Amino acid sequence: MTGKEIAAILAEHLDERYIHPDSPMSDCCSFRTGGNALCIVEVHNVEELRKVLTCVRKKFLPYSILGNGTNILVEDEGYSGVCVMLQGEFTKVDVTGYEVTAGGGASLAAAGRMAADMWLTGMEWACGIPGTIGGAIKMNAGAFGSEMSTIVKRVKALTTAGEEVFLRPYECHFGYRTSLFCEKKYIVLEAVFELRKGDKNEINATIEKYAKERRDKQPLDLPSAGCIFKNPKDNFAAKLIEEAGLGGAHEGGAMVSKKHHGFIVNTGTATAADIVNLMNRVRNEVYKNSGVRLEPELIVLGRPGRY
Ligand SMILES: Cc1cc2nc3c(=O)[nH]c(=O)nc-3n(C[C@H](O)[C@H](O)[C@H](O)COP(=O)(O)OP(=O)(O)OC[C@H]3O[C@@H](n4cnc5c(N)ncnc54)[C@H](O)[C@@H]3O)c2cc1C
Repeated sequence: MTGKEIAAILAEHLDERYIHPDSPMSDCCSFRTGGNALCIVEVHNVEELRKVLTCVRKKFLPYSILGNGTNILVEDEGYSGVCVMLQGEFTKVDVTGYEVTAGGGASLAAAGRMAADMWLTGMEWACGIPGTIGGAIKMNAGAFGSEMSTIVKRVKALTTAGEEVFLRPYECHFGYRTSLFCEKKYIVLEAVFELRKGDKNEINATIEKYAKERRDKQPLDLPSAGCIFKNPKDNFAAKLIEEAGLGGAHEGGAMVSKKHHGFIVNTGTATAADIVNLMNRVRNEVYKNSGVRLEPELIVLGRPGRY
């Protein structure tokens, strides 16, 4: 099926403005490279999401929810499926008492900022993570000793059967950079975070301290997807990569950052293949040097089974 064909089917249910056949994923991914998606579609509420999923499943097409694209890479050959972006209702953030309620497509940083404005502490660490609520829940994103699992009170999700369910934290199976949403193709519609009352000046000072640490230690001037590998138990991927002498190693336009060895950056001309080749080389050389097998944190979309 072509992008135009699936777009025509989706246009029976959605405004054409929100359907983008044969769309370059390099515009939607923080690595700023990669091939086209068969179709990118923006949905604004659960009803539209259900309609899109029904159409896509009827045609046996693969699909993936696209957050801010800060932890994915699309292969150069493209993704022969539909990427669904959660917009409209899904981007709302609301604060009531000590609770922050945010849609699956809302910005994690914006939710953290809003919490800070309301004198709520507990999300300062999240303000520098460039993903959406949905992407952060799926990845159990974390930084500076905290992670999503420490603040989640409940998650509203859409199951593969199209049912809306409320999940408590233990039902989300949170682990290090993983969750139930990695096991099952459930979609995060909304999450509620439970925070504590804090001092606004202290909260803002902590946010600024963490932002400075990122600016000082991370190559934020070049496209990347953050840390590319998970930290192995009781160790650090960046340290193992440095010990293997891989700082500055490159394949085409992809380079292991010299500023933070856990990052692979796009120096301007990297193809997705350059990034994947460099990841493979780093894994092999780290294994040879330390006996540790690094596991990618990055999700690669394209041909199934390659990673
Ligand atoms: C400069 C930089 C710094 C970073 N720092 C950190 C950090 O400190 N800590 C950290 O953990 N990560 C970090 N990351 C990685 C990334 O920001 C996180 O993993 C983030 O949570 C991904 O969110 P996203 O919306 O961009 O998800 P995407 O990359 O768009 O998607 C990631 C996965 O989540 C799925 N997904 C997205 N939305 C939903 C949804 N609503 N329901 C179900 N599945 C969904 C996608 O299908 C995909 O499988 C960094 C990245 C960059 C570029």
